[in-house]
Amino acid sequence: MVTEPAPAARTQDRPVYVIGGGPGGLAAAAALRERGVRAVILEKSEHVGASWRRHYDRLHLHTTRKLSGLPGLAIPRRFGRWVSRDDVVRYLEKYAEFHQLEIVTGVAVSRVERTEDGWLVRASGGRELAASAVVVATGYNHTPRLPDWPGHPSYTGELLHAGDYRNAKPYAGRDVLVVGVGNTGAEIAVDLAEGGASRVRLAVRTAPHIVRRSTAGWPAQRTGILCRRLPVAIVDRLARPMAKLSVPDLTEQGLPRPTTGLYSRVREGAIPVQDVGLIDAVRTGKVEPVAAVESFEDGKVVLADGTHIAPDAVIAATGYRRALEDLVGHLGVLDARGRPTTHGRRTDPAAPGLYFTGYTNPISGMFRELALDARKIAKAIAG
Ligand SMILES: Cc1cc2nc3c(=O)[nH]c(=O)nc-3n(C[C@H](O)[C@H](O)[C@H](O)COP(=O)(O)OP(=O)(O)OC[C@H]3O[C@@H](n4cnc5c(N)ncnc54)[C@H](O)[C@@H]3O)c2cc1C
Repeated sequence: MVTEPAPAARTQDRPVYVIGGGPGGLAAAAALRERGVRAVILEKSEHVGASWRRHYDRLHLHTTRKLSGLPGLAIPRRFGRWVSRDDVVRYLEKYAEFHQLEIVTGVAVSRVERTEDGWLVRASGGRELAASAVVVATGYNHTPRLPDWPGHPSYTGELLHAGDYRNAKPYAGRDVLVVGVGNTGAEIAVDLAEGGASRVRLAVRTAPHIVRRSTAGWPAQRTGILCRRLPVAIVDRLARPMAKLSVPDLTEQGLPRPTTGLYSRVREGAIPVQDVGLIDAVRTGKVEPVAAVESFEDGKVVLADGTHIAPDAVIAATGYRRALEDLVGHLGVLDARGRPTTHGRRTDPAAPGLYFTGYTNPISGMFRELALDARKIAKAIAG
């Protein structure tokens, strides 16, 4: 009788390679290890949690500690309900150590190729690594997306992407325009206003949905989890009166209520902005919403309503690209927008054994989703 070798035997010589040592990759590797599958993480930077080490100083998880733990190790209670950036990094370091994960740092994967009986992972230093399966967990926030605004080279002020923003110190006493009102843009605008910038404007193309991080102790994330599987139209309808109750009308201050429903926007890729001070800052005029940026002209910023303004600095909180094209684009596993066509435990029939985690932006919290996906991927791989 021919029996399938156990996962440990199958993966000793040809392990599962996990690309990326962020929370997604760490969680997947830990879940695989728990099932006796050898998993090796390839991380291009020198440390795990590279993205979190680069985030701005005041960042805290807006998802709760309890709902953000990865498989097999809860986030310590002493880190508080809303975990700080530094404590997220501490947790990820501890997580890797606790699960005794096999991690190779300083190795960037450039391409994943199909072989007759598995996968070939090409990485820096001319490495060619044979893999039984591959988990792609490179995250979506490592390649900044900076719009190609016409005329921007003429701008003589400071222009930077939000990914390079750390804190408000360099902007004290300066007039700053933040472009984009996602969670990052909203929080950086508040940070600047509180940190002594002389004027803070926030360029808004589409008015965002704003939700309180928690109401009477009930975190917005729990509502997100409850609503996740409901039909979009129902969630949109439920969210409207809730928003009216909990968020004041800021139309006069330049931030009208959105016309598209909350969950419809989520489906388009825009999760609601968690209020960590934006509502008060806008209400009190410390942050001034203005029209979207159209272009730059004679060293000034031209807004969509025709206004020309001359801030000292422009911080573009305009998001990131997944940048998966070079890595796996040739395998036909990406859609027209560069997103993987499969996710979690599901794989593309043309690419069995190639898994993706971390490329969605769920309303229920990404850490939570990464944890769920890790378990499902491990189960699928371990068979
Ligand atoms: C500002 C901000 C706040 C967030 N707050 C929350 C929150 O409160 N709660 C929540 O649940 N989620 C939050 N998220 C979303 C999400 O949880 C995080 O982005 C999380 O870090 C995603 O984990 P990841 O492992 O998918 O990606 P990352 O953390 O980006 O990790 C990817 C890793 O892959 C490495 N890498 C990339 N390319 C390669 C390559 N070619 N070869 C080798 N290594 C590579 C990178 O160096 C990096 O270490 C937030 C995101 C941002 C940007």
